[in-house]
Amino acid sequence: MNMYKVDERGYYGKFGGAYIPELLHPCVEELRKNYEKIISDSGFKKEFENLLKDYVGRPTPLYYAKRYSKHYGADIYLKREDLCHTGAHKVNNTIGQILLAQRLNKKRIIAETGAGQHGVATATVCALMGLECIVYMGKKDIQRQAPNVKRMKMLGAEVRPALSGSQTLKDATNEAIRDWINNPADTHYIIGSVVGPHPYPEMVARFQSVISEEMKRQLMDKTGRSNPDIIIACVGGGSNAAGAFYHYLNDQETRLVAVEAAGLGIHSGETAATSVIGSEGIIHGSRTLLMQTPDGQIVEPYSISAGLDYPGIGPLHAHLISSGRAEAISVTDEDALKAAFELAAQEGIIPALESAHAFAALEQLEYKQEDTIVINLSGRGDKDLAAFSQYMESL
Ligand SMILES: *Cc1c(COP(=O)(O)O)cnc(C)c1O
Repeated sequence: MNMYKVDERGYYGKFGGAYIPELLHPCVEELRKNYEKIISDSGFKKEFENLLKDYVGRPTPLYYAKRYSKHYGADIYLKREDLCHTGAHKVNNTIGQILLAQRLNKKRIIAETGAGQHGVATATVCALMGLECIVYMGKKDIQRQAPNVKRMKMLGAEVRPALSGSQTLKDATNEAIRDWINNPADTHYIIGSVVGPHPYPEMVARFQSVISEEMKRQLMDKTGRSNPDIIIACVGGGSNAAGAFYHYLNDQETRLVAVEAAGLGIHSGETAATSVIGSEGIIHGSRTLLMQTPDGQIVEPYSISAGLDYPGIGPLHAHLISSGRAEAISVTDEDALKAAFELAAQEGIIPALESAHAFAALEQLEYKQEDTIVINLSGRGDKDLAAFSQYMESL
């Protein structure tokens, strides 16, 4: 029995579902009815695979980090999603969804973005296919993430500011949902992580599952065994982790480690460690764990890394963590920064701040000398140079 597969109502255990306003029902229903058939079609698969290969640059390498392994006393491999076109795993999903949108005859694409990484990945595939692209982004994030805003514009996207609430990611998401309600016929909404109403979490996980599909093959080639002892990935909404875990979910001998951002500390009030301080509730269309006040208001998350700065967690991860299948670890800003500098010094790789959280988890994790560990290096750190240089000046 597969305990981790979504059921036909969109649930992983008690988490998931589709809690949406009546007006959104036709959009989500159209997707739910059609997506499985479309993405299982051999023509779709062929086009998806070809683009992943020639446009994204897949398969991404599985790299044995020799000096790093010696330092930590285990065999450590890095799955190099940082080498994907646009610099992170996000494009695996946007390629899949743009091909889906074309087959649903949609002419207009909308997306939400926080740091701008998903916005850039969406603007990229819209340019590739010649489709109109509108990206909603909190006004505060537009100011904080100016380089990505410029990239989106250069790629031909319109960036619309979300002016409500805290003017960050959750407000941008609300604006995107509002747009979709008003434009149900010609618009597809590309959600950027394994969040949102069913079928998004499962659909995005399937597009990202190419990560673990490749890992199995690559580990077999390199070690003679397709399963590592431990896989570590950072979790914002959870798409890179879902992709890295997907083909190992039922392989109980492989430990799955989900790393959340503790921000300034779990109990500091400035954190994004959802699985630790969160509770069950509904956010952006699904029942999951989220950070909320006793009367159900969403608590503003905080992390130095914009990609992990989300008050919820995908329903798959809520299920994996609460059922004990995955272990959750939380890592502070400070420890993530240290881990980024350590990886740069030891391996010549500058990770995204999000990914640096996964590396920092090694300090907290119990493992054995002979263990094989895969760390999903979800993205590269060019976008985080300002934070890195600020840290260097503070030392
Ligand atoms: C967006 C992002 C994340 C967080 O998103 P997930 O859906 O949790 O993967 C992690 N790493 C990088 C590099 C990102 O850009």
